[in-house]
Amino acid sequence: MMTTNRPVALVTGASSGIGKETARALVAAGFEVAGTGRDTARLTPLDGVTFLDLDVASDASVTAAVQQVIERFGRIDVLVNNAGIGSTGAAEETSVARAQGVFDTNVFGVMRMVQAVLPHMRAQGRGRIVNVSSVLGFLPAPYMAVYGASKHAIEGYSQSLDHEVREYGIRSLLVEPGYTRTGFEANSARPDTHLPVYDRQRGVSDRLVTQAIRDGDDPAVVAEVIVSAATDAKPRLRYT
Ligand code: NDP
Repeated sequence: MMTTNRPVALVTGASSGIGKETARALVAAGFEVAGTGRDTARLTPLDGVTFLDLDVASDASVTAAVQQVIERFGRIDVLVNNAGIGSTGAAEETSVARAQGVFDTNVFGVMRMVQAVLPHMRAQGRGRIVNVSSVLGFLPAPYMAVYGASKHAIEGYSQSLDHEVREYGIRSLLVEPGYTRTGFEANSARPDTHLPVYDRQRGVSDRLVTQAIRDGDDPAVVAEVIVSAATDAKPRLRYT
């Protein structure tokens, strides 16, 4: 085990986008950072970040990754549940199987991580869990019903969890980014186009959705908000 005086953060989905920038920003803020992705062999190293393989949709992978972090650093002060996938498409064209896949990562993935990390935080008598939701965790968005439902679920889970663990020195907080310029859209589950057959036949274009993402925030800006949630002395329940 490596002995360190620095706080230890575990970031899921640190291979790209918001998670990668968060790993970088946490190192700059003085953390030892364990960053994860499903296939670390294809990642470029990041200064100060220890990369581990982790698929949040697998019980065994979650258990193994958390164990590796504990073996290496001895504790976990901050868990950033950032790994997530999107899903766009008309409600009637989004299969239940696709929705189950989205929930397995965005919702049950968070629950698996919390269940694996919380016993360590309770033993430490402190810890902070930062759950990356979305503005779609509290707002509606057409053609994103499944994704929105997954983020609404996380909002309920995170806020209830916060009440459960607060008296043990642990907080569960939400960060709710708006559109952010990452590979998210390309990495998301979706039919060939954002729009349903009904609209495609009417010649409606998905240009507006694509434009909104292109004009979105820089992931480094969202990363700073996540670092605030991880470090604020008096944290807010939600960072929008
Ligand atoms: P990216 O697609 O760039 O990054 C997603 C990350 O999640 C990758 O590192 C990917 O790693 C990881 N990931 C996906 N599935 C799994 C899994 N099953 N197990 C472990 N890791 C997984 O997207 P963003 O950076 O944009 O998204 C990060 C978070 O921000 C998500 O929760 C998303 O919902 C949220 N968000 C994004 C917004 C946006 O506009 N981009 C807006 C609001 C919220 P790998 O493929 O290497 O395993």
